[in-house]
Amino acid sequence: MPIAADDPRLTHAYEAASTRYTDVPFQRAGASGIPLPKVSLGLWQNFGRDRSFDSQREIVLHAFDRGVVHIGLANNYGPPYGSAESTFGAVLDSGLARYRDELFVTTKAGYDMWPGPFGDGGSRKYLTRSLEQSLQRMNTDYVDVFYSHRPDPETPLEETVTALVDIVRSGKALYVGISNYPAELARQAYELLAGQGVKLLLHQPRYSLFDRTPEAELFPALRGLKVGSAVFSPLAQGLLTGKYIDGDVPADSRAANSHFLNGTALTDSYLERIRGIDRVAKEAGLSIPQLAVAWVLRDPVVTTAIIGASRTGQIDDAVAASQVELADDVIAALEEFAAAPGASVV
Ligand code: NDP
Repeated sequence: MPIAADDPRLTHAYEAASTRYTDVPFQRAGASGIPLPKVSLGLWQNFGRDRSFDSQREIVLHAFDRGVVHIGLANNYGPPYGSAESTFGAVLDSGLARYRDELFVTTKAGYDMWPGPFGDGGSRKYLTRSLEQSLQRMNTDYVDVFYSHRPDPETPLEETVTALVDIVRSGKALYVGISNYPAELARQAYELLAGQGVKLLLHQPRYSLFDRTPEAELFPALRGLKVGSAVFSPLAQGLLTGKYIDGDVPADSRAANSHFLNGTALTDSYLERIRGIDRVAKEAGLSIPQLAVAWVLRDPVVTTAIIGASRTGQIDDAVAASQVELADDVIAALEEFAAAPGASVV
């Protein structure tokens, strides 16, 4: 199909900032050869067809200019499903593609993507064909990590793992990741991969001041295996910012515009916690999101924090946070307002 004259791929040009490796510290993922920026950008929300391409492009390019070279996707990010990958492909086409090998692009399959039994779960058919579709949407010939997005109790783990191994051997993904796997299954996946000569690069769990579940079993397991983690929703989708602190839902916030968060999250207990965290942040000379991102990065088992962003300033907050080392007394002061170690309040 011919490209329309006003297609953004023809109307934009891009030259990356020469300072892009000066802002975000990089940290090695476990015992691997891959250092990742301590802050990564995920395109789960804000990158579907519900927002303007120009603002989406601006956010991705701003991230790259600041050194946030790791971009996290999944097959079904949107809405509609697939559209975040298409958006990212259009950003690549609009000038970023010349930097493809400076980027670390990851995608996943595991949740529902297309109708019928082959578009969900952990089968070889689903993972292999889904990655093929993702590469077409992104208009790139490889991803850096392909993740199994969740464990599938209906599919033997051997089948999922062998599909991931074959995908790596095909060159369409360079590394393997798993997401949302509990510790014991993560260990089994690691062993099955190792048995076929492939190292598990990353685990992707949810982790924040409000969800400390991974501290109980997953993080100890990852430390033992020397596998890194790319933690998601470090700001609890925006709850760990000041925007809901008065108990109101601003019209331009995720709680007003997404199925995944709404005003029911703003309970009295939440308001008490966030106001306490705000006091600790002010005392430390940080904003709440800066404190929240710096907090997840306090332990090197966390290789990188995958944030979401609806505007470029949110990237700058996270970049600033990646440079902060929290003092022990600040970490201690947060305990009263955070979830208990190993527990979640969201
Ligand atoms: P966050 O917890 O970082 O929440 C991001 C949202 O918080 C933004 O969209 C914005 O919302 C708000 N925000 C961010 N920074 C600031 C700031 N400085 N000041 C004020 N508000 C701010 O992460 P997400 O929940 O978006 O998840 C991040 C990524 O993690 C996803 O894109 C995805 O890649 C990955 N993920 C993986 C999952 C998995 O199963 N593996 C599941 C979920 C996410 P607003 O619209 O209100 O401005």
